[in-house]
Amino acid sequence: MNINPIAHIQSPYKQKFAIPRQPGLVKAARGEIIFEEAIADPNCLREISQFSHLWLIFHFHETSEEGWSPLVQPPRLGGREKVGVFASRSTFRPNSLGMSVVENLGWTQEGKKLVLRVGGVDLLDKTPIIDIKPYVPYADAIPGAQAGYASDAPGNMIAVEFTEKAKQALEKLTAIHADLQDLIEGVLQQDPRPAWRHKTPDEKQYGMSLYDLNIRWRVEGDCIRVLSITDQEAS
Ligand code: SAH
Repeated sequence: MNINPIAHIQSPYKQKFAIPRQPGLVKAARGEIIFEEAIADPNCLREISQFSHLWLIFHFHETSEEGWSPLVQPPRLGGREKVGVFASRSTFRPNSLGMSVVENLGWTQEGKKLVLRVGGVDLLDKTPIIDIKPYVPYADAIPGAQAGYASDAPGNMIAVEFTEKAKQALEKLTAIHADLQDLIEGVLQQDPRPAWRHKTPDEKQYGMSLYDLNIRWRVEGDCIRVLSITDQEAS
């Protein structure tokens, strides 16, 4: 078997912490797929605009060295119950391959650079892309399919608020990152803290990276409050 990446994705998610558990949960998370030179032939993308959604097959490159085990503890089950690795979408699996359905936002070519834009990604920045295929509803969407412990999208979204300081920073940054507020809200509504933290009082201040920004937040009562948004270099 000879598998080489066809491309790498540029995504706002610079670290694993706070990435949503599946694609489509945060629509404002947009990525750019930059094709390898050997593959960067626009013929490869002819008629791809006919498809609103695409499958990405990718390498969990950040965790592939950490191995795998037959049983995993999905966060959906509170991180306590165990299921088989093949009954899960865990990143820790024998061949470290991930798959995500994303929105097709079109492609461009500038000189030799071929770029495909996608929306609703759950991929870490720089993830190697192994393959891209059209999402075909008649075969891929199965109404009434059973999904046991993962039947519904995560519910109970937590409210997200911004301090004045964070609002001012947002305003300044909208020229560069138009959807920044939607992205931060979308990510934090999922409450990225580990499951056990959800039930205990939590004074901790958290930090997460989106684009080149450091975003600090904490839980206050029933909501998450964004405290500051600063350039990574400045913080
Ligand atoms: N939709 C994919 C991924 C599900 S797991 C699938 O079902 O196969 C989602 C998690 O993958 C995210 O929370 C993120 O932390 C992790 N992830 C995304 N890109 C990764 C990468 N390149 N290496 C390791 N983990 C990654």
